[in-house]
Amino acid sequence: MKLIKGDITKLEVDAVVNAANTSLLGGGGVDGAIHRAGGPAILEECKRIRAKQGGCKVGDAVITTAGNLPAKFVIHTVGPVWNGGKNNEETLLASAYRSSLALALEHKLSSIAFPNISTGIYRFPKDRAAEIAVNTVKEFLSANNAEIEVTFVCFDDENYRIYKELM
Ligand code: ADP
Repeated sequence: MKLIKGDITKLEVDAVVNAANTSLLGGGGVDGAIHRAGGPAILEECKRIRAKQGGCKVGDAVITTAGNLPAKFVIHTVGPVWNGGKNNEETLLASAYRSSLALALEHKLSSIAFPNISTGIYRFPKDRAAEIAVNTVKEFLSANNAEIEVTFVCFDDENYRIYKELM
Protein backbone atom coordinates (compact mmCIF):
# COMPACT_ATOMS: atom_id res chain seq x y z
CA MET A 1 0.00 0.00 0.00
CA LYS A 2 1.28 3.42 -1.00
CA LEU A 3 0.28 6.96 -0.19
CA ILE A 4 0.59 10.00 -2.41
CA LYS A 5 -0.74 13.53 -2.47
CA GLY A 6 -2.03 14.68 -5.83
CA ASP A 7 -4.48 14.36 -8.68
CA ILE A 8 -5.72 10.82 -9.37
CA THR A 9 -6.36 11.58 -13.06
CA LYS A 10 -2.60 11.75 -13.67
CA LEU A 11 -1.75 8.25 -12.48
CA GLU A 12 -0.48 5.48 -14.73
CA VAL A 13 -2.04 2.55 -12.94
CA ASP A 14 -4.24 -0.29 -14.14
CA ALA A 15 -7.31 1.28 -12.56
CA VAL A 16 -8.22 4.53 -10.90
CA VAL A 17 -11.28 4.44 -8.68
CA ASN A 18 -13.94 7.09 -9.08
CA ALA A 19 -16.11 8.24 -6.16
CA ALA A 20 -19.23 8.21 -8.32
CA ASN A 21 -22.91 8.57 -7.47
CA THR A 22 -25.69 6.05 -7.99
CA SER A 23 -26.73 7.59 -11.32
CA LEU A 24 -23.27 7.02 -12.86
CA LEU A 25 -23.91 10.19 -14.84
CA GLY A 26 -21.07 12.21 -13.39
CA GLY A 27 -20.90 14.86 -10.70
CA GLY A 28 -18.49 17.21 -8.96
CA GLY A 29 -15.27 16.55 -7.08
CA VAL A 30 -13.13 13.66 -8.26
CA ASP A 31 -15.97 12.40 -10.48
CA GLY A 32 -15.98 15.66 -12.44
CA ALA A 33 -12.19 15.63 -12.69
CA ILE A 34 -12.12 12.05 -14.05
CA HIS A 35 -14.78 12.70 -16.69
CA ARG A 36 -13.14 15.99 -17.72
CA ALA A 37 -9.69 14.48 -18.10
CA GLY A 38 -10.85 11.12 -19.50
CA GLY A 39 -13.23 12.46 -22.12
CA PRO A 40 -16.68 11.31 -23.30
CA ALA A 41 -15.89 7.59 -23.74
CA ILE A 42 -16.19 7.06 -19.98
CA LEU A 43 -19.65 8.61 -19.73
CA GLU A 44 -20.82 6.68 -22.79
CA GLU A 45 -19.91 3.42 -21.13
CA CYS A 46 -21.48 4.52 -17.84
CA LYS A 47 -24.70 5.23 -19.73
CA ARG A 48 -24.65 1.75 -21.28
CA ILE A 49 -24.21 0.18 -17.84
CA ARG A 50 -27.00 2.37 -16.49
CA ALA A 51 -29.34 1.28 -19.30
CA LYS A 52 -28.57 -2.35 -18.53
CA GLN A 53 -28.61 -2.40 -14.73
CA GLY A 54 -29.98 0.98 -13.64
CA GLY A 55 -26.91 2.69 -12.22
CA CYS A 56 -24.83 1.49 -9.28
CA LYS A 57 -25.94 0.87 -5.69
CA VAL A 58 -24.16 2.40 -2.71
CA GLY A 59 -21.28 0.08 -1.81
CA ASP A 60 -21.14 -1.50 -5.28
CA ALA A 61 -18.75 -0.84 -8.18
CA VAL A 62 -18.64 -1.04 -11.98
CA ILE A 63 -15.71 -0.90 -14.40
CA THR A 64 -15.31 1.09 -17.63
CA THR A 65 -12.65 2.23 -20.04
CA ALA A 66 -10.42 5.05 -18.81
CA GLY A 67 -10.79 6.99 -22.06
CA ASN A 68 -7.92 9.43 -22.42
CA LEU A 69 -6.57 8.93 -18.91
CA PRO A 70 -3.15 7.31 -18.47
CA ALA A 71 -4.86 4.55 -16.46
CA LYS A 72 -6.30 1.50 -18.25
CA PHE A 73 -9.68 1.37 -16.49
CA VAL A 74 -11.89 3.43 -14.23
CA ILE A 75 -13.66 1.58 -11.45
CA HIS A 76 -16.70 3.61 -10.40
CA THR A 77 -17.84 2.96 -6.87
CA VAL A 78 -20.49 4.71 -4.82
CA GLY A 79 -19.69 5.61 -1.23
CA PRO A 80 -22.37 6.47 1.32
CA VAL A 81 -23.53 9.99 2.10
CA TRP A 82 -22.68 10.64 5.77
CA ASN A 83 -25.89 11.11 7.71
CA GLY A 84 -24.71 11.02 11.29
CA GLY A 85 -23.33 7.47 11.24
CA LYS A 86 -26.43 5.45 12.17
CA ASN A 87 -27.37 4.54 8.62
CA ASN A 88 -24.81 1.84 7.98
CA GLU A 89 -22.35 4.37 6.57
CA GLU A 90 -19.23 2.56 7.86
CA THR A 91 -20.23 -0.82 6.42
CA LEU A 92 -21.18 0.77 3.10
CA LEU A 93 -17.87 2.61 2.86
CA ALA A 94 -15.93 -0.62 3.50
CA SER A 95 -18.10 -2.30 0.90
CA ALA A 96 -17.19 0.38 -1.70
CA TYR A 97 -13.49 -0.42 -1.20
CA ARG A 98 -14.09 -4.19 -1.29
CA SER A 99 -16.28 -4.08 -4.41
CA SER A 100 -13.61 -2.07 -6.22
CA LEU A 101 -10.87 -4.50 -5.23
CA ALA A 102 -13.02 -7.47 -6.25
CA LEU A 103 -13.36 -5.98 -9.76
CA ALA A 104 -9.60 -5.44 -9.88
CA LEU A 105 -9.05 -9.10 -9.00
CA GLU A 106 -11.64 -10.28 -11.50
CA HIS A 107 -9.91 -8.31 -14.26
CA LYS A 108 -6.46 -9.45 -13.13
CA LEU A 109 -5.27 -5.91 -12.52
CA SER A 110 -2.02 -5.39 -10.69
CA SER A 111 -2.37 -1.77 -9.56
CA ILE A 112 -5.24 0.39 -8.39
CA ALA A 113 -5.50 3.92 -6.98
CA PHE A 114 -8.23 5.11 -4.61
CA PRO A 115 -9.37 8.65 -3.84
CA ASN A 116 -10.68 9.30 -0.31
CA ILE A 117 -14.18 8.05 -1.07
CA SER A 118 -17.11 9.88 0.57
CA THR A 119 -14.91 12.51 2.28
CA GLY A 120 -15.81 15.36 -0.08
CA ILE A 121 -19.36 16.25 -1.02
CA TYR A 122 -20.62 13.19 0.94
CA ARG A 123 -19.16 14.58 4.23
CA PHE A 124 -17.90 11.32 5.81
CA PRO A 125 -15.56 12.20 8.73
CA LYS A 126 -12.08 12.03 7.26
CA ASP A 127 -10.26 10.30 10.10
CA ARG A 128 -12.83 7.51 10.37
CA ALA A 129 -12.97 7.12 6.57
CA ALA A 130 -9.19 6.75 6.40
CA GLU A 131 -9.15 4.00 9.05
CA ILE A 132 -11.88 2.13 7.20
CA ALA A 133 -10.06 2.52 3.87
CA VAL A 134 -6.70 1.28 5.12
CA ASN A 135 -8.09 -1.58 7.23
CA THR A 136 -10.50 -2.78 4.57
CA VAL A 137 -7.81 -2.84 1.88
CA LYS A 138 -5.34 -4.60 4.16
CA GLU A 139 -7.89 -7.25 5.10
CA PHE A 140 -9.04 -7.77 1.51
CA LEU A 141 -5.52 -8.24 0.16
CA SER A 142 -4.54 -10.74 2.81
CA ALA A 143 -7.84 -12.65 2.73
CA ASN A 144 -7.56 -13.05 -1.05
CA ASN A 145 -3.82 -13.49 -1.17
CA ALA A 146 -3.90 -10.70 -3.74
CA GLU A 147 -0.80 -8.96 -5.01
CA ILE A 148 -2.32 -5.70 -6.11
CA GLU A 149 -0.42 -2.47 -5.60
CA VAL A 150 -2.85 -0.11 -3.90
CA THR A 151 -2.23 3.65 -3.87
CA PHE A 152 -4.24 6.01 -1.67
CA VAL A 153 -4.39 9.37 -3.40
CA CYS A 154 -5.05 12.34 -1.16
CA PHE A 155 -6.04 15.56 -2.84
CA ASP A 156 -6.36 17.73 0.24
CA ASP A 157 -3.79 18.40 2.97
CA GLU A 158 -5.99 17.18 5.81
CA ASN A 159 -6.56 13.73 4.30
CA TYR A 160 -2.87 13.45 3.43
CA ARG A 161 -1.88 14.22 7.04
CA ILE A 162 -4.41 11.71 8.40
CA TYR A 163 -3.27 8.91 6.06
CA LYS A 164 0.39 9.64 6.71
CA GLU A 165 -0.10 9.22 10.42
CA LEU A 166 -2.18 6.09 9.95
CA MET A 167 0.17 4.29 7.56
P1 ADP B 1 -17.76 12.05 -2.44
O1 ADP B 1 -19.05 12.49 -3.10
O2 ADP B 1 -17.59 10.56 -2.42
O3 ADP B 1 -17.52 12.71 -1.13
P2 ADP B 1 -15.84 13.88 -3.74
O4 ADP B 1 -15.34 13.82 -5.12
O5 ADP B 1 -16.64 15.06 -3.34
O6 ADP B 1 -16.63 12.50 -3.50
O7 ADP B 1 -14.63 13.77 -2.74
C1 ADP B 1 -13.90 12.59 -2.49
C2 ADP B 1 -12.44 12.93 -2.29
O8 ADP B 1 -11.82 13.14 -3.56
C3 ADP B 1 -12.22 14.21 -1.48
O9 ADP B 1 -11.30 13.92 -0.44
C4 ADP B 1 -11.62 15.18 -2.50
O10 ADP B 1 -10.65 16.02 -1.88
C5 ADP B 1 -10.94 14.23 -3.44
N1 ADP B 1 -10.65 14.72 -4.82
C6 ADP B 1 -11.22 15.72 -5.52
N2 ADP B 1 -10.64 15.84 -6.74
C7 ADP B 1 -9.66 14.90 -6.81
C8 ADP B 1 -8.68 14.52 -7.78
N3 ADP B 1 -8.58 15.12 -8.95
N4 ADP B 1 -7.82 13.49 -7.47
C9 ADP B 1 -7.92 12.84 -6.29
N5 ADP B 1 -8.81 13.15 -5.33
C10 ADP B 1 -9.67 14.17 -5.58
